[in-house]
Amino acid sequence: INGIVAIVGRPNVGKSTIFNRFIGERLSIVEDTPGVTRDRIYGKGDWLTKDFRVIDTGGIQLLDQPFQEEIKAQVEIAMEEADVIVFVVSGKEGITNDDEYIANMLKRQTKPVVLAVNKIDDSSKIENIYEFYNLGLGDPHAVSGVHGIGIGDVLDEVIGLF
Ligand code: GDP
Ligand code: MG
Repeated sequence: INGIVAIVGRPNVGKSTIFNRFIGERLSIVEDTPGVTRDRIYGKGDWLTKDFRVIDTGGIQLLDQPFQEEIKAQVEIAMEEADVIVFVVSGKEGITNDDEYIANMLKRQTKPVVLAVNKIDDSSKIENIYEFYNLGLGDPHAVSGVHGIGIGDVLDEVIGLF
């Protein structure tokens, strides 16, 4: 294993979709416990010459806690366990207060952050990524988790940071 990458972001931006892209065909070896719905949060992927572990922090949930507490726990786990953090936002909705809340947590820590603007499903949406420069976390990468676009560019940056 060359490194550990954690995926963070508010609910519904596409973290699990991108997680599945990062781990590729290993998805099919997941065993399901009948009657139990549990998000799988750990996976293994590889890209070029590197092997890595992936953590989908969105699957770490606190019962009956406000969003701020839950996301804080998720980002803390990412900061503790990961070498690189992928921060996923949505190019469909643009920057939300929750994105800003997470961005501020990420800026107050030292692990490198790769910013992935998801839901850029075709090239006509590309200009939606530019507002995310305002988060102050570097260059936004255009991604479509559903269509598998831009995932390789994100992984190039991730493995370069191990
Ligand atoms: P999570 O809550 O951050 O883990 O988000 P999910 O991966 O569960 O995705 C939330 C919703 O966004 C689902 O309905 C996905 O199908 C949708 N979604 C994820 N990625 C994309 C994308 O690249 N484009 C579009 N249009 N929808 C997406
Ligand atoms: Mg999820």
